[in-house]
Amino acid sequence: MEFVEVREGLAKILVPKARRIYDAPVFYNPVMALNRDVSVLTARVLKPKRVLDALSATGIRGIRYALETPAEEIWLNDISEKAYDLMKKNVVLNVRGELREENNRSFLLGEKVMVINRGDANRLMAEKFRYFDLLDLDPFGSPVEFLDTALRSVKRRGILAVTATDTGVLCGAYRHACLRKYLAEPIRGELCHEAGLRILIGTIVRYSAKYDLGVDVLLAYYRDHYFRVFLKLKSGAKKADESISKLGYLWQDERGRFEYSREFLPGKPGAYGPMWLGPLKDVEFVEKILEKARNHALGHRKTVPFLELLAEELDVPFHYDTHALARKNGLEVRKIGKVIEKLRELGYRATRTHFSPTAIKTEAPFEEVLNAMRGD
Ligand code: SAM
Repeated sequence: MEFVEVREGLAKILVPKARRIYDAPVFYNPVMALNRDVSVLTARVLKPKRVLDALSATGIRGIRYALETPAEEIWLNDISEKAYDLMKKNVVLNVRGELREENNRSFLLGEKVMVINRGDANRLMAEKFRYFDLLDLDPFGSPVEFLDTALRSVKRRGILAVTATDTGVLCGAYRHACLRKYLAEPIRGELCHEAGLRILIGTIVRYSAKYDLGVDVLLAYYRDHYFRVFLKLKSGAKKADESISKLGYLWQDERGRFEYSREFLPGKPGAYGPMWLGPLKDVEFVEKILEKARNHALGHRKTVPFLELLAEELDVPFHYDTHALARKNGLEVRKIGKVIEKLRELGYRATRTHFSPTAIKTEAPFEEVLNAMRGD
């Protein structure tokens, strides 16, 4: 394997030389630096002691948790032998200490304890029962095959961070795969990303509820063709019931008008879901990570503006895409800033949304949004 050295956050790591990222023998995607930035910022705010990067590849994520957060014990794991060998190299490159190896597991004992493991993530998580304060799942595609063991391996009041890159599935391009993996009906069109994110959270809520665990969504977003969710677990049957009560369904007509309702089974036909209809962020938490982000050497130049957008965004279910509304209702496209201004003049809250540069979130009724698009 030939390598190139890459710097990200406070880490410098070796990554395999490859023409395209998916051809590399060990995976590294520089675009995901933003995902790793937000993960590190989360750990800086919440200060978990034991962290698992369950699907590590080059080890960049776990190494950044070690270098950039107060975590004291960091586990890196990957099933691939090439990844395991590279993780060891990269840990030694970044963290001082003596590396000892036995049976596909290495220990680096320095100021921080680092454990590098080669094996199936499900096996490792089953072995480390209720052990981690923060458990990070960053798989290829869907995280569903790791959710059960992750929910047993993380502490009952721990933090679960989950990436899903199977956006085609969650956004309805592969409906049957969504029915199979998430037991949910996906929607296509302009609401597909927000609904996909909510289907993912809804699924984690249902998995958690089995273990009498509820969830608080610290932050959930869509970006660069992936979904990312940071959840704080809450222990107890009542907490699980509370989270389940925030699940429900979405309906949308051909003009783009939508409605949603929190219910366990859909009360009428044409429903999309089940999905999470609760908040997508904890306002205080987002303010805290934003503050940390402004004073931290980050890996991606867009992390701060993206967090600012998330902090500002009105947290109500679903949004109106001005281009889709114009097309479906025979209207001219109006500048999004103007539509937001008009809605605010009328006394409604309205903001941009990270789901689309042409969309707005507002509490205004559908007809008022159309009026604002017309400039009435
Ligand atoms: N977290 C990494 C980062 O931030 O750069 C990227 C991880 S990559 C998307 C997914 C990794 O999961 C691959 O390196 C793959 O070898 C590993 N993997 C796939 N199935 C696994 C399993 N069952 N157990 C452990 N690792 C697995």
